[in-house]
Amino acid sequence: MPHPPPTSPTLAAAGWHFDNSYARLPEALFTRTMPVPVRDPRCVSLNDPLARDLGLDPDVLRESGAAVFAGNEVPPGAEPLAQAYAGHQFGHFTNLGDGRAILLGEQLTPDGRRFDIQLKGSGRTPYSRNGDGRAALGPMLREYLVSEGMHALGIPTSRSLAVATTGEAVLRERPLPGAVLTRVAASHIRVGTFEYAAALGDTTLLAALLDHAVARHYPDLAHVDEKAAAFLEAVVERQATLIAKWMLVGFVHGVMNTDNMAVSGETIDYGPCAFLDAYDPATTFSSIDRDGRYAYANQPAIAHWNLARLAESLLPLMPGGTEAALDRARGLLDTFPTRFERHWLAGARAKLGLATEEPGDRELFMALLRWMQATGADFTATFADLSSVAAPWCEAWQARLARETASPADARTRRANPVVIPRNHRVEEALTAAEAGDLGPFDRLLAALRSPYESTAANESYRGGPPAGCGPYRTFCGT
Ligand code: AMP
Ligand code: MG
Repeated sequence: MPHPPPTSPTLAAAGWHFDNSYARLPEALFTRTMPVPVRDPRCVSLNDPLARDLGLDPDVLRESGAAVFAGNEVPPGAEPLAQAYAGHQFGHFTNLGDGRAILLGEQLTPDGRRFDIQLKGSGRTPYSRNGDGRAALGPMLREYLVSEGMHALGIPTSRSLAVATTGEAVLRERPLPGAVLTRVAASHIRVGTFEYAAALGDTTLLAALLDHAVARHYPDLAHVDEKAAAFLEAVVERQATLIAKWMLVGFVHGVMNTDNMAVSGETIDYGPCAFLDAYDPATTFSSIDRDGRYAYANQPAIAHWNLARLAESLLPLMPGGTEAALDRARGLLDTFPTRFERHWLAGARAKLGLATEEPGDRELFMALLRWMQATGADFTATFADLSSVAAPWCEAWQARLARETASPADARTRRANPVVIPRNHRVEEALTAAEAGDLGPFDRLLAALRSPYESTAANESYRGGPPAGCGPYRTFCGT
């Protein structure tokens, strides 16, 4: 095992408090790997509120954190490793693993919570295949903006603690400034991690992974009888909640491969993701998603498909022989559509300002979506100002609101309908400026994203859709 280099006294003062429970799992699940040092580490963005929440001192990190955030120094107590996992990528099974990420360890917060601290873009690992193990500044800042935006929207997600530039170029279509993102997550255990463990055919190892995931994310299930089934059901429920939240803000993940789906129920692996501007359920942004497998409207069905891969992986841990296990797993999987619908409809009602339930509510919401699609209306702006919708719909909505007992409805719609989301054109503008050395637009956009439900003078320019004539937005995976 490689020994971490000695750490400087200032580093120790930052408040790092690591435990490494993943490193205590069977060795087949990871490889101990150190981040590869870079030429000139500089921290270009530090998430002060998140640092404090983790029990870290932002002032110390600003002073001396760049070396850690770039992978040149390892904080005290960390046991760096690259995680092994598999995954279905666009429907095809592949062995993967962290090809450009290193899990430093798990930071224990002063109040006893546990978070993975992971470096993304920190150099080659045993799972890099043909990749360089590196990341470019633009995509890492993009993940930072979108994940912090999602967090502020109340959507479970990995978060971003820092971005450090490396002083080295990464070669994509052209040379780009290299960077490392420090990512914080409940864990990085993926559906694909279970697929990997199941593919090894070692039930003891699979059971150890299950125990670990349950202890971290579903501690109430630690002592139930049918742990694998209970875990599957819990993940089905969390994913149903998560995808409903995505749909209700117009988020398109872009690469919902099973290796990009966390069993914690957090959004992870921001790549070619983007938010809808004009409402069109067939929207894909990713240049590699040619068949629209991961289109906006397909996301619930794809989540369901991915959960079936999780279920298959858990079968060896379900009692009663293959047939009984299959029946049990199928029964649980079949609950996904109903669960999704329930969460989605509850969120849809909230967006319309409805606190009570009536059978016609779903149709009222669907009529609004149809109107948006027919008119090419902006998804976010429409919900932010429902009075802008065509008169017949508004009349039906007002009639429905009149039957609400609690008031006022507009306070409720304001809490459910964000005015600021990470708009594609604003994200691009921020990244272009950052690549040219100006972090101003990035910082201002990030500040606006932190209060998505408030209309203020400061966020006015972040509320609008793209300028006319922008053309369809495209995201690229060569990140
Ligand atoms: P993604 O689609 O970004 O989640 O990545 C899929 C797989 O490719 C993961 O195993 C990544 O670690 C790996 N990967 C992506 N980019 C690189 C890179 N530049 N170098 C090495 N591995 C990479
Ligand atoms: Mg991934």
